[in-house]
Amino acid sequence: MECVLYDRECINCGECDMCDLDPNKVCDNCGRCIDTGSEYRAIKITEIKTEE
Ligand code: SF4
Ligand code: SF4
Repeated sequence: MECVLYDRECINCGECDMCDLDPNKVCDNCGRCIDTGSEYRAIKITEIKTEE
């Protein structure tokens, strides 16, 4: 799988799971980075999984 942050294959480093507002926190999908009007206002959907 291609890394979503860097030009490389994914090495499972976990960096993309970290919070955009608090680098010490793992993202828990609280939505604060979307609601606050900060510079983070886009969501890039890279994959949709179905049950099959
Ligand atoms: S886990 Fe690391 S290497 Fe993999 S996609 Fe996330 S940031 Fe990239
Ligand atoms: S959803 Fe919440 S925890 Fe995740 S990156 Fe945004 S502010 Fe951080």
